[in-house]
Amino acid sequence: MKVKHIDHIGIAVRSIEEAGKFYTDVLGLKLQKVETVAEQKVKTGFFPITDSELELLESTAPDGPVAKFVEARGEGVQHIAFRVENIDDALRELKQRGVRLIDQEPRKGAGGSRIAFIHPKETHGVLVELCEK
Ligand code: ZN
Repeated sequence: MKVKHIDHIGIAVRSIEEAGKFYTDVLGLKLQKVETVAEQKVKTGFFPITDSELELLESTAPDGPVAKFVEARGEGVQHIAFRVENIDDALRELKQRGVRLIDQEPRKGAGGSRIAFIHPKETHGVLVELCEK
C-alpha cells in the first residue's frame, strides 16, 4: 500500500463554531468549508494546513459515532486519516493480510472523498481512516 501523506486529523468537538475559535483566532488557521455528512450523522469543518487539514467533527444526532465518542471520552483527537492512491487496492491488500476493518468497502466522505476505517484494535488504539481524493 502507498500512503501519500497525512490527509487530516479528525477532532471531535461539541461545537465547530465554539472550538473553531481557537484554531482561527489563536492559531490563525482558516475554516475553509463546513459540510454535513448525513450518513455519519456528523458536521465537518476543515482547516487546511499545507498538504493536511484539521477536521473538526460535530455530531448532528445524539446516537451518532461522534456524539458517542464525546460522551465516552470528551472532546479530543478521534481519528487520523492517511491519503492513499487507490483505496480499493488498499482495502484488498488489508483483507488479504487479515487486518480487521470497520468498512469492508469504501464509503462517501466529506469533499467527495472515498474513505474507510481500520479497526482500532489493529492500530494500537488509533482509529485510522484511509482516504482517496
Ligand atoms: Zn476524517
